Amino acid sequence: MNAEIIAVGSELLLGQIVNTNARFLSQQIAGLGIDVFFHTVVGDNPARLKASIEQAERRSEIIIFTGGLGPTKDDLTKETISRHLGKELVMDESALASIELFFKRTNRIMTENNRKQALVLEGSLVLPNDHGMAPGMVLESGDHLYMLLPGPPKEMEPMFLRYGGHALSSFACSNEKIVSRVLRYFGIGEAALETEIIDLIDAQNNPTIAPLAGDGEVTLRLTAKHVDEIKAQSMLDEVEHTINQRVGDFFYGYDNTTLFAELTKSLKERNLTITAAESLTGGLFQQEITSIPGASSVFKGGVVCYSNDVKQQVLQVKQETLEKHGAVSEQCAQELAENAARIFATDIGISFTGVAGPDDLEGKPVGTVYIGISIKGRPTHVEKLNLGGTREANRNRAVKFGCYFILK
Ligand code: ATP
Ligand code: MG
Repeated sequence: MNAEIIAVGSELLLGQIVNTNARFLSQQIAGLGIDVFFHTVVGDNPARLKASIEQAERRSEIIIFTGGLGPTKDDLTKETISRHLGKELVMDESALASIELFFKRTNRIMTENNRKQALVLEGSLVLPNDHGMAPGMVLESGDHLYMLLPGPPKEMEPMFLRYGGHALSSFACSNEKIVSRVLRYFGIGEAALETEIIDLIDAQNNPTIAPLAGDGEVTLRLTAKHVDEIKAQSMLDEVEHTINQRVGDFFYGYDNTTLFAELTKSLKERNLTITAAESLTGGLFQQEITSIPGASSVFKGGVVCYSNDVKQQVLQVKQETLEKHGAVSEQCAQELAENAARIFATDIGISFTGVAGPDDLEGKPVGTVYIGISIKGRPTHVEKLNLGGTREANRNRAVKFGCYFILK
């Protein structure tokens, strides 16, 4: 089963807005196990919209429209589809009632134009708009499914999540259950991960394996279809096992979790506390960990030690270390991590020192990062990274690496 998304709106073609609807819908539809093969953008012009519909009908089974359902003259989506399919527009009483209620509630005068928004294609399933006026529609005609959604993302997204997704899955596979699971990886690039499992990706069919990279992380979305949901889950278990036999070293969690959420969970389970001494990252590690609910049971506090004075006076880094090796050094990272753990009386001390950029420092190139990790009862170890990205990317990736090193 495959789908095409047609975004209607001249402002998209003029570059005034970005087609975020296509991005949102593509991600959602992929999660349902349906392939999106085409994105089309067309202006508010009935002849060109009709041509786009005809082209979509030749190559796609499911056609999803966004935009042009509003009350104004340039909103032509449903009128054009109505003429094209020979389906009348009829008044939907419940959509009309909710529009009337909306006007009453906001003390505004309803115009004839607004009644037009309650007109729907005859025979369609009406999708209520919980955040605006224009209802959505789903219509099966010929071999196709047509879905009409409003343009504004704050109306379209909840409508799709609440009503649209079900309509698509029941059209796509009437009695099959679709289950999906996201596997999250850190410390390996997308290309390297793909190379490890390329034979599985090439052979994929059910379950499907979809890689996605972003924010220095890689995810794999696994989607399985089966009439028996338990069987579908076990199909996912099996492919996950095969994948992680090869790249499990980089796996850190499922679905919407984050490295910081996993770190907090793991420290809590092991009954360990942590502190951080942050130069390069200026408190980013501490900000991230405290954004996780329940962090107080593992995180005691820490120091932003940006200047050498603070490194020396607060964190007791030896003057000799700074003079001989510099602040961006293995020795400095080691002392920062060990001393922080001692001063804060925690089981773990982590430190970040490095060159965020844009300029080199102490003769060391941008992206040079040392992460010190001192864990009670073990020798302190220092990881050196050469990140070489932008200032922001280097800082973000450094704190994620910090989490990852403690988790491993
Ligand atoms: P309205 O009732 O607000 O007129 P509509 O369904 O007629 O809604 P449009 O008129 O096409 O939709 O677009 C309204 C607004 O929705 C746009 O100005 C824009 O802010 C947003 N929008 C429309 N299409 C998209 C899109 N593809 N991606 C992101 N935003 C969009
Ligand atoms: Mg409009």
